[in-house]
Amino acid sequence: MLTSSTAALALGALCCAALTWVQEPAPSAPSTVVATKSSAPLRVLIVDGRNNHAWRATTPVLRAILERAGCAVEVATLREGDEALATFRPEFSKHQVVLSNYNGPTWSADTRRDLESFVGGGGGLVVVHAADNAFPEWKEWNEMIGVGGWGNRDEKSGPYLRLREGRWIADPTPGSGGSHGAQHEFVLTHHAVEHPILRGLPKRWKHTQDELYDRLRGPAQNVTVLASAFAPKELGGSGEEEPLLFALTWKKGRVFHSALGHSVISMQCAGFQETLVRGVEWAATGAVRERATPEDFPSAEKSSARELEPAKGEVKK
Ligand code: ZN
Repeated sequence: MLTSSTAALALGALCCAALTWVQEPAPSAPSTVVATKSSAPLRVLIVDGRNNHAWRATTPVLRAILERAGCAVEVATLREGDEALATFRPEFSKHQVVLSNYNGPTWSADTRRDLESFVGGGGGLVVVHAADNAFPEWKEWNEMIGVGGWGNRDEKSGPYLRLREGRWIADPTPGSGGSHGAQHEFVLTHHAVEHPILRGLPKRWKHTQDELYDRLRGPAQNVTVLASAFAPKELGGSGEEEPLLFALTWKKGRVFHSALGHSVISMQCAGFQETLVRGVEWAATGAVRERATPEDFPSAEKSSARELEPAKGEVKK
């Protein structure tokens, strides 16, 4: 998916002997934009209930974005208490995509196994922002999401992804995983421009105010970096181009990982919404319906926020 000249590759190999190129999905992975034959709504299950972020405010926004795009959305909320945690077992298999807005205690072994079976059997997984902080000890989860942050993640969790000589490399340098500087508007740059999630969209666009996650790390296998943004040191960032949108395959399943989406303001971005909808579609089917770029899609110079109608879903207190 990513381009690099042979010279750049050779140079990178010489300079970075300890580094390895990121393993990308096999060429046979779906990579075309096609019209889906079925008009049946995609069935999406949002999982939430614990998060160090405002999940009660953001789940209705995620739901509204997807319902406006024609998805049939249900929400599985983990309630308070140990008993709720022990018995939390959403029926993942009734849906085509599980979208995690969850960052909380590890689920039961049965529930973890259910998700592994669901994604491993060809189901779709979508991970939004702090959901990639969850489950640092769950090996299969970390394989599915590629990279994550916090939760004592470090070099034992896997490498950083770093852009060197025009290619993403796996950088094993020791250090903690996950940080961010001050929230600000920043410009996303697309890399795998022919990937169905990105095809036809402007290659650079300014995102609304958000946390720019940096130093994420993890197994980083079968991952395509779709988009990144530069995290300036003067704002507390890493001083690196940081990967923020990812497409992955895990066994027979597909995963779209968006590190964007700290708050409702971040989710109002037309670019966040368009990539989320396309990511859900790709995770569900391996394809994305052909469509025009939304008229309000942000440019490289100007962000674009959408006011959303209240979601049909419950606004949880
Ligand atoms: Zn955040």
